[in-house]
Parts: sequence; C-alpha cells; structure tokens
Amino acid sequence: MTVKGVLVASEANETGVLAGDDRMLIDGELQHAAGGAAFEVIHPASEQVVGRAADGTVEDMGRAVAAARRAFDDGSWSADLEFRKHCLMQLHDAMERSKERLRRILITEVGCPVTVTGSQIESPIHEVKHWAEFGADFEYLRDTGLHDTPLGPARRMLRYEPVGVVGAITPWNVPLYLNIAETVPALMAGNTVVLKPAQLTPWSGSELGRIVAEETDIPAGVFNVVTSNANEVGAALSADPRVDMITFTGSTATGRAILAAAAPTVKKTLLELGGKSAHIVLEDADLNAAMPLAAMMACVMSGQSCVLPSRILLPRSRYEEGIGLLATMMQNFPVGDPWTPGVMQGPQICAAQREKVLGLIASGVADGARLVTGGGIPANLPVGYYTEPTLLADVDPNSRIAQEEIFGPVLTVTPYDTDDEAVAIANNSIYGLSGEVSGADVDRAFAIAARLRTGNVTINGKSHFGIDSPFGGTGQSGLGYRNGTHGYQEYLHIKTIGMPE
Ligand code: ADP
Repeated sequence: MTVKGVLVASEANETGVLAGDDRMLIDGELQHAAGGAAFEVIHPASEQVVGRAADGTVEDMGRAVAAARRAFDDGSWSADLEFRKHCLMQLHDAMERSKERLRRILITEVGCPVTVTGSQIESPIHEVKHWAEFGADFEYLRDTGLHDTPLGPARRMLRYEPVGVVGAITPWNVPLYLNIAETVPALMAGNTVVLKPAQLTPWSGSELGRIVAEETDIPAGVFNVVTSNANEVGAALSADPRVDMITFTGSTATGRAILAAAAPTVKKTLLELGGKSAHIVLEDADLNAAMPLAAMMACVMSGQSCVLPSRILLPRSRYEEGIGLLATMMQNFPVGDPWTPGVMQGPQICAAQREKVLGLIASGVADGARLVTGGGIPANLPVGYYTEPTLLADVDPNSRIAQEEIFGPVLTVTPYDTDDEAVAIANNSIYGLSGEVSGADVDRAFAIAARLRTGNVTINGKSHFGIDSPFGGTGQSGLGYRNGTHGYQEYLHIKTIGMPE
C-alpha cells in the first residue's frame, strides 16, 4: 500500500528494507517520468528488486532546466537571503524528522551498514543547517576602498552573486551526503538547482525532492530532481546552454565527458573525481595504531570511497610487521548484513562493481602481487554482493592494481627504501585527491605531506575532511573545492564595481 505513491516507514519489511519515492520533483510538482517509465532498484545485500524509481527522460530534464531557469531569472529566490535561510532551516528540520526513513533508504540502496550510517545521515542533515547559517552571515558586498587609476581614484566594491542555474550530478557511494553537499550551498548562495542522482541510488535524491515539495516553502523550480537510468540524461544537463554551472562527483572518465560537454557554453565546472591515494608509513610510525586504522578505513564503506588511502607504502625495515597487522585486522573484520548492528562492512553496491573489484584483484595477482588475505567472495555470504577484505603485497607501483581506482575493500602494499622513493611512488599517479603520512616525528611527516601532489593529506589519522575546511583534488582528481569558505564561494561569482569615492 502506498500513500501518494510513497511507501510509509511502517511498511519497511522485517529486514528493514524501505523503498523510496518513485517520483521526481520538476517545477514544484512530484511526478512520474514523461512516458511513465520506471526502473528497478536492487538491495545489494539480498540481490532482490525492492522497488522502482522514475526513469526520467531527456525531455524531463529539459523541463527541469527550464523551470530552474525561470525560477532564477524571474523569481525572487536569488535576491531574498532571509527567505532562503528560512527555507533551508525548514529543510533541515524536515530531514531531522525523516532521519530514520532516510537511513533505511540509504541502507536499502547502498548496503551501507547501519552502524556506520552517521556520516551519511547525521552529517548531511547537520550540514544543511551549517550552510543556512553560514550563507546568512556571508559578506556578499565588500568595499575594497579607493584604488589609484589613470583617471583618478576609484572606489571598488566586490559583489558576490549567484552563478545562476546549477546542475548537480551525484554518484552512488555516499548519495544523501553528496546530494546535500552539491545542492544546499548552491541554493543558499541564491542559485537554482537541478539534481541528477546516480542510477543506483535514485531514492536518496527523490526523497529529498519529496521533502522539499511537501515540507518546505522552497518555490517551484528552485530545486528539481530528475532520476534516470540513462547516462544521457546527465549528459543533457551538462550540455544544456541554460545551465550556468555543473557540480559533479564521480569517476574521472565521466568528469572528462562533463568538461567536454560544458566547453561549448564555457560552463563553470566543479569536479570531484577519482583517487588513488597513498599512505606513506615512516619508519618511526606507531604501526599498532596506524595499520588497524588503515585496514578499517579500507573496509567500512566496502572501499567505495574516493579519498581512501588504498596504496600502503611501508619501509622495508618494517614491511612484514606492517603486512601482518593489516592482515590481522582484515581477517577479523565484521563483514555481513548491513542491517545487523556491529557489522562494519556490507556488500559492494552492485554485481558489476564487485566483478570489477574481483577483476582488479586478479590482475594484481597476474602482475606478480602476493595475495596475503581475501581475494574472493566470503564463503558464508553467498547472497549479496560481498567481497572479502583483501590485502595484496609486493605490488609493483606501475601495475594496473596500483594505478586504477579499485573502489573495493582492497589495500595494496609496496615497500620502499628512502623517503624520496616513497614520495615518488606516492606521486606516481594521474590522481591527486588525498594522501596519508604516519610517523612519530610530526615535523618530518609534515615535510613529506608537503611533497605529495594531492589536495588533502591526513597525518597520523587526523582527518583533513570537514564542512569547515576546503576539500578538492589536484591532477585528474578534480577542479575546485567543496566545504569551507572556498567551497561556498564556488557557487558565487564576483562582480567588481568601480564607482566614485
Ligand atoms: P560510476 O562509474 O561509479 O557509476 P559515474 O562517474 O559514471 O560513476 O557516475 C556518476 C554520475 O554521473 C551518475 O549520476 C551518472 O548518472 C552520471 N553520468 C554518467 N555518465 C554521464 C555523462 N556522460 N554526463 C553526465 N553525467 C553522467
């Protein structure tokens, strides 16, 4: 039984599975796809179809973009800061009320273990409030004083203005978090938004659309959600001349396609792409602390994290000791049904992703790596897309498994002899998202961190990541920043006005 097309929370089945809204939000109306098409959503822990999502078309996307354009050009959203704060605080409060429903949808779509959902549910809800408050206090008009010019002194004012219509394209690994991270600062900055969630996680987007439509005063067209099973719908968003900016998180391959599609209209792009981060373990590191943590980080999201330091670089003097500690943690890691409290690693999100992970592991072994533990499907978990926590040692830094993003619970280990060699191996990548350094001498660790060509570095497990600090990649890991003042300013352009004293 459904209520307005929405399964209510009490209808979650005994395993906790809960289907999300099968409608999209376009121009203020919750609606099905133009031709009525829908696609299936599969729960990765059971391999069962658990519901459907609207299979939006390029035509639906066109209507959503038109609505966002109208709302930006003709509405008062971009000019009414107080109203924007009011609406986003409503969104925050409504998400708080829907928190358990959102959590169940997340677990249903992604297979994320209930025990580790905090960063995917509580954090994004908190971030809605953060951006509402941050945006309300932001200084949108700045007087930079008098400047000398050949024609005499001129006062210069900087006016921070919304970019316009923002297209937000999100991936499936942390869907609610990224749906919020890509849209709420954009909205608070005065833009209108069209969100295109990933095929595998449509409900974390459609639920947001439902909450916006039913529980906030956000005007029609300001926030739109178009779910679809077709990549061409995201491609249509990134090519549409009515869109001023694309914010995207996902693979580097798709990032390149988006850049190319954005080029004819010189759209602003904010891209968070792939990573292949290295963790340099220095000789004096506390391995008993660093190695279990490194193994845990590789497993908790089933390795489906772009910032994961998946290449462990160990000094030859402590090589087998480090491998032993990593292996012990991985062999004892609680893998299993995501609904069971205490389980820390669930399944991969889909069959194809697990195939990709297993294929990369096989390529590593074929290229001469030593399989220390894992490498296959857990014998006790034949149903669900589970992968064993896997450790590969003696990995050649130039081999495929050391160069390609795996997105699975897999660590590779490579020995090194000198700091210079460790840095060279770490920087031997097309990516530049994150990195990690472990060592007792923090000054030395900091000096190594400074040599890594990445956007972010963790030293001794101290996280670089948070709403109040900029996060972005170098190399083929992306363009621009999320979070912090820099992240907010991505959704604004600066108009410099010269005027009389
Ligand atoms: P993955 O390969 O891990 O599925 P992608 O980077 O392909 O990740 O997908 C991330 C998001 O990009 C999804 O929302 C997907 O629909 C979208 N997408 C895929 N191809 C394109 C494209 N050519 N243009 C715009 N968006 C795309």
